[in-house]
Amino acid sequence: MIELESHLEGQWKKGTGKKSTLINPTTGVAVAQTSTEGLDFASALSWSREVGGAALRGLTFAERGALLKQMSKVLHEARDELIEASIVNAGTTRSDSKFDIDGATGTLAYYAGLGKKLGDRTHLVEGEGEQLTRSPRFWGHHVLTPRRGVAVHVNAFNFPAWGFAEKAACAILAGMPAITKPATATAMVAERAVEIVVQAGILPEGALQLVCGSTGDLLDLLGPQDVLAFTGSASTAAQLRERRNFLDTNTRVNVEADSLNAAILGPGTAEGSPTFELFLKDVTREMTQKAGQKCTAIRRAFVPRALYDAAAQAIGAKLARISVGNPRNEAVRMGALVSRAQFDGVREGLAQLLAEAKPLYDGRNQALVDADPAVAACAQPVLLGTTDPVGARVLHDVEVFGPVSTLMPYDNEVQAFELIRRGQGSLVASVYSADPAFTARAALELADSHGRVHAISPDVASLHTGHGNVMPHSLHGGPGRAGGGEELGGLRALGFYHRRSAVQASTAALDALAASATPLTY
Ligand code: NAP
Repeated sequence: MIELESHLEGQWKKGTGKKSTLINPTTGVAVAQTSTEGLDFASALSWSREVGGAALRGLTFAERGALLKQMSKVLHEARDELIEASIVNAGTTRSDSKFDIDGATGTLAYYAGLGKKLGDRTHLVEGEGEQLTRSPRFWGHHVLTPRRGVAVHVNAFNFPAWGFAEKAACAILAGMPAITKPATATAMVAERAVEIVVQAGILPEGALQLVCGSTGDLLDLLGPQDVLAFTGSASTAAQLRERRNFLDTNTRVNVEADSLNAAILGPGTAEGSPTFELFLKDVTREMTQKAGQKCTAIRRAFVPRALYDAAAQAIGAKLARISVGNPRNEAVRMGALVSRAQFDGVREGLAQLLAEAKPLYDGRNQALVDADPAVAACAQPVLLGTTDPVGARVLHDVEVFGPVSTLMPYDNEVQAFELIRRGQGSLVASVYSADPAFTARAALELADSHGRVHAISPDVASLHTGHGNVMPHSLHGGPGRAGGGEELGGLRALGFYHRRSAVQASTAALDALAASATPLTY
């Protein structure tokens, strides 16, 4: 069996002691093992801070961008191999595996382009500065310098390639070394991706390290210049935030957690209209892409009450055409969940939702293609519905991380917005309407409780980037239960890895400082 290793201080290292086993979720066969027991994380942190940090800070933005470009290139060249690892280790179809891997290379390439634009400088200045006293010779300016610590990236199981790459791209471009830690269950993909980058000799020593398995005491050792970017469940995030050293030293933490994302079909939409069809297509895709294991997936779909039955039937008919099973079988449209534990979690969550909703389409009795239902972590899609969304509580509160969504009718737009906000802060809401005035109202009503509002009208039907698709240009992260974090958003991402400081000095000194800095504009 493959033994995954961590890459620390420039070497591949095996842990000792008890190993975690990675399973092929389609076949139930063990595919790899890993352990981090006994690894010296204190020394690895020093290596990042002292060796990697110094090397990256010594490069210009354009040079760091060039590193990202090479990372994107070598990972793209290894696309087929990474897709294979994803099929084996994550149970994803070829198409879903590509979604993760192309997301990774695309995000690296995007940040490579931003590095090129930022040019031959090493730090950033904000705005024009301001005169502080009566004399025009004494001014204040804000400068952004890379934090002199290490960025620890803890990722969720569902996007092992993209999760690694999107965080690493932003840290490296900012001039901060990273230690990436994939979720153990799907670590094969991230481990191979890091190995490809290491073998290509792209990054300076210490710029990127990998922890494959448990974090051990790594997080206890983080200090004031370090940052933690975490993606995963709200419960793990809550445990991590409480760490004594984070409180004592104000270690900067960014959390991307779970989310009850919504889609709303605008009032006045006609059954069978292009807008109606766009809504149906997206709800179905969001339920089934990556078997619903996307943090951005539509969990609650709202329609005008008059369209509730028609939407239920139409989505149900689309879901009935989704074949579920072994991702290697070309007839299969939806692969496995990540593990049998996740399968049990989806069933438990579904049972909770069923207390307030009834199945409008229930695929649970549909036969699996080429997979043993007693072994495979394959969950068929279930569309739930309630005609009383106002009286519901659990439906607005429990995230089932699988191919499950709830359809709900609304009576007027004010009520619809209020119901959507009951998600208590989500990553994304999508709005389907041919009426620009409604779309604009909805965007402003929903922006405060969502990291992103994605509005789709027939004129952008073939252009839009997708409800669940995280574009590096736009912010990713939501308020409240979604974690309160912010990632990506173009250059906005660099803020997390920089320290903003005010510099108050003579105009001559500030002119000298500005000469080696790029003005930060969005
Ligand atoms: P999880 O169980 O919270 O695990 C996430 C990561 O945290 C994994 O790498 C895990 O490592 C690590 N971890 C768990 N306990 C830890 C601890 N005590 N100390 C240090 N690290 C710890 O979440 P998941 O099951 O992988 O992912 C599913 C959840 O993530 C869903 O709720 C989904 O909504 C959310 N998610 C959110 C986003 C977003 O961008 N907002 C994106 C994707 C997923 P091990 O695997 O080694 O335990």
